[in-house]
Amino acid sequence: MADCIFCKIVAREIPGEIVYEDDETLAFKDINPQAPVHILVITKKHLASLAEVGEADKGLLGHINLVISRLAREKGISEKGYRVVVNTGAEGGQTVPHLHFHLLGGRSFKWPPG
Ligand code: 5GP
Ligand code: ZN
Repeated sequence: MADCIFCKIVAREIPGEIVYEDDETLAFKDINPQAPVHILVITKKHLASLAEVGEADKGLLGHINLVISRLAREKGISEKGYRVVVNTGAEGGQTVPHLHFHLLGGRSFKWPPG
């Protein structure tokens, strides 16, 4: 999608520190990390948010969660624990309107979130 920064990272039109890629997903380091490990895992397909997904995306959403689980193991945060966040919409704190999963680890997190 034109003018979407994450689509531009997928298309290599703007740089990203890519840590994983397959046909359906891309993972890259967050530009403003909030934890020692902070990776954004995105669908290559432009979906604006979790609010916009449908039945047709069921396989893709399952796949992306498996990618996240594997990345967490590879980054060495699986045993101690980690957090996966999908900010959705204005009140959810979403700032980039392309579906993305934050994979955060390497420190303790509090609950409830702010
Ligand atoms: P959101 O607030 O939508 O849940 O998360 C957007 C995330 O994207 C933020 O954590 C922000 O730091 C990150 N981000 C925004 N622009 C870029 C960029 O151009 N490159 C990378 N790697 N991360 C970005
Ligand atoms: Zn996009």
